Amino acid sequence: MLSKTTIPGAVRVENKEKPEETFLVRQDDNSGRMLCPCCMNSHNKICQHAVAAAVRMESLEKYLAWRSRQRKPTIEERVKKYAKNWKEAKSKKG
Ligand SMILES: [Zn+2]
Repeated sequence: MLSKTTIPGAVRVENKEKPEETFLVRQDDNSGRMLCPCCMNSHNKICQHAVAAAVRMESLEKYLAWRSRQRKPTIEERVKKYAKNWKEAKSKKG
């Protein structure tokens, strides 16, 4: 859900696909991680809004430093994870 409240230090970034929608993105001061509520960011730890916000905050280097420390799942790992989730969801249904 999109929060309407303003968070100090947060930047509102528009969704290119849906201009009426915006994401409130902020940076974790300690780690440099960009916190964007979109699903792309939660899956990949990166999204265009996070990058846009980092550029506006002039904090792109800090964000990149954090991102480069993260373990990047390979495409094989991601496919296996999604396939497993899908199987589990299917078996729950019966
Ligand atoms: Zn995002």
